[in-house]
Amino acid sequence: MSTAPELDVPLDRRIGKKTAAAVAKTLGLHTVGELLRHYPRRYLLRGDLTDLSRLPVGEHVTVLARVVQVTGRAMVSRPGWILQVQVGDVQRTLSLTFFDRARPVHQGREAALTVGTTGLFSGRVGVYRGSMQLVNPMYHLIRDGEDDTDAVLEQPIPIYPAGAGLQSWQIANATRTLVDGLAPLPEPVPDGIRAAQGLMPLHAALVAVHAPKTMAEAQQARHRLRYEEAFVLQAALLRRRAARQQQAATPRVPRAGGLLAAFDERLPFTLTDGQRAVGAQVASDLAAAHPMHRLLQGEVGSGKTVVALRAMLTVVDAGAQAALLAPTEVLATQHHRSISAMLGDLGEAGLLGGSQIGTRVTLLTGSQPAAVRRKALLEAASGEAGIAIGTHALLQENVQFAELGLVVVDEQHRFGVEQRDLLRAKGSVPPHVLVMTATPIPRTVAMTVFGDLETSTLTELPAGRAPITTHVVTAENPRWVERAWERVAEEVAAGHQAFVVCPRIGDDGPAEPEQVEWADGPGDGPGAGVDDKRPPMAVVDALELLQSVPALAGLRIEVLHGRLPADVRDDVMRRFVAGAIDVLVATTVIEVGVDVPNATVMVVLDADRFGISQLHQLRGRIGRGDAAGLALLVTEAAPGTPARERLAAVAATTDGFELARVDLELRKEGDVLGAAQSGLRSSLRLLRVLRDESIIEQARADAASLVDADPLLDSHPALVAAIAVLVGDEGEQFLERG
Ligand code: ADP
Ligand code: MG
Repeated sequence: MSTAPELDVPLDRRIGKKTAAAVAKTLGLHTVGELLRHYPRRYLLRGDLTDLSRLPVGEHVTVLARVVQVTGRAMVSRPGWILQVQVGDVQRTLSLTFFDRARPVHQGREAALTVGTTGLFSGRVGVYRGSMQLVNPMYHLIRDGEDDTDAVLEQPIPIYPAGAGLQSWQIANATRTLVDGLAPLPEPVPDGIRAAQGLMPLHAALVAVHAPKTMAEAQQARHRLRYEEAFVLQAALLRRRAARQQQAATPRVPRAGGLLAAFDERLPFTLTDGQRAVGAQVASDLAAAHPMHRLLQGEVGSGKTVVALRAMLTVVDAGAQAALLAPTEVLATQHHRSISAMLGDLGEAGLLGGSQIGTRVTLLTGSQPAAVRRKALLEAASGEAGIAIGTHALLQENVQFAELGLVVVDEQHRFGVEQRDLLRAKGSVPPHVLVMTATPIPRTVAMTVFGDLETSTLTELPAGRAPITTHVVTAENPRWVERAWERVAEEVAAGHQAFVVCPRIGDDGPAEPEQVEWADGPGDGPGAGVDDKRPPMAVVDALELLQSVPALAGLRIEVLHGRLPADVRDDVMRRFVAGAIDVLVATTVIEVGVDVPNATVMVVLDADRFGISQLHQLRGRIGRGDAAGLALLVTEAAPGTPARERLAAVAATTDGFELARVDLELRKEGDVLGAAQSGLRSSLRLLRVLRDESIIEQARADAASLVDADPLLDSHPALVAAIAVLVGDEGEQFLERG
């Protein structure tokens, strides 16, 4: 795949068979290129002895330390020899204990590990009689003699991610062997860009990252390789976008006096400026002869659905169909209901009382009875339904469209690129694609994950929205919890409704099906810092609890979760919307999209079990009307724990972008990119999406100028090869198709 055959050479042809086997087993690496991209985690200088006070017990460590004391003796209770070596400094020492059966081995060690010797020692940290020790550690001595030159002293010692079967210095030896005879390599970063950015060539960077002469050189090499990751990624995304722009699509231009015009006329509110601007943007994309690929970002409640619906109506007016893909059945059903309601007779073509210019809105979900489903399939295939709304059921092979002109993906963070592509493939010509995400994401993350899409953002909420207030309620104080229920009762007395959200369904059957299938899970370490002896609050238990709270006596309380049959769920949602239920006890099935403006209060039980963005989504379910919203986050997590910090952050601001930033800071990098990007995640070795903002921005600008001049990068074979390695085979097929 790469244009450098050297990089594809199996490792056992360049380093010893035994080491190659250990590298394959421990690190899963098989070729020269793969091992060269296994970079050191950090570097040590000979003088920089490891701080022994902070060793993690139970973990495999590699420390640089000096021998301060050695005692050897025969063992008392069994045959063999014991050598006790203290390494460290005056203040802290670490015991190394070697047990040897054979006396010559023991003597050999004793002779090597003399006081004053420095070495790398590696093993699992144990505790013996209150102090830390490594038993039978592996070691690699660094002999500093009188004649050591400054150059030798300055040479950093690379420390690699290693394991019990393969020591850091074994990896160092192997990579040094590789770089010593490394043939010239093709250069993925064009010379002009490299010169402008002051970056060393790839060959030099690989040599310097594994065998640096100085710390400064190691840092330069890492910077160059980090930039390269950002650059290749951005080039891949922009090339993909450019390839799409060369594809033909059918322009969809609305006819005058059509559905869209009729819809706009009866809209019960005025569009916000943002909705209007994005709407115009989308309309001009749809009218173009190339497929639209636009990301619509917007704060929870900013009114993305109307924007999407107007785009769908445009396409229907132009004689084609639109599909709306939702992540859960609850959301798909709700979209179907609310879009049908907004359209009124415009969505009832062919029915008695339906509009002449109207269309039909059909729903496709996994749990529909066969007859209903057959009818929906028929309506989509015949073109009768201008709008098809559904879950992943829309992606199945038997779903066909007469002419699919637009694909709208709601709440994109739950879908992978592959799913977007599956639906795209249902058009005879590439359809236009609008992706909506309610999770605000920082710029660089958007650039990384959605870098192949054009972006629009809705920043303002519709006027007249009442603010949401959020409080953390600590469960240790029974009075506060009582007060929370009183607030629920007060809201209901004032004619409003309430949500009570729990992390679990209960009756420990299978987990929430909607979650298993679709959610990427609360990636930000839910439950972190929480004492998890008690299972998190379940819907069924919460129902019982609520029924016993005096303040709530006489209220109409019902449950909603993914294990209820679809028709029951549907019925509950319908009655909640209609105001026939006061308090809805639910799981996160209500997390996205559910829109009941009369709901004003939400109590989240064991709120620490949810991630920041999930809580922000959840509370977005209230305060959607003109009455103020109140979110109460109930927790037993102790003050000062990460769990409590997350809750405090959510309570402190309703700015989704700010929360997204806090969220990402508290998360691990891997979670940032989401489950759908797992391949990408593993290929970003040095680049950190949040920390390296300026590098990513520079790399994107550089890649853009390259792609502008040469959209498919035909004159940059080394870069194209690097892209292929980065995005993998699947991505490559996509690019070829794309
Ligand atoms: P989200 O962006 O979170 O998906 P929705 O599209 O569900 O938000 O819109 C939230 C609510 O705001 C809905 O009830 C919708 O009808 C209403 N809405 C949308 N646009 C406006 C507007 N311009 N003025 C008033 N209400 C609006
Ligand atoms: Mg929405």
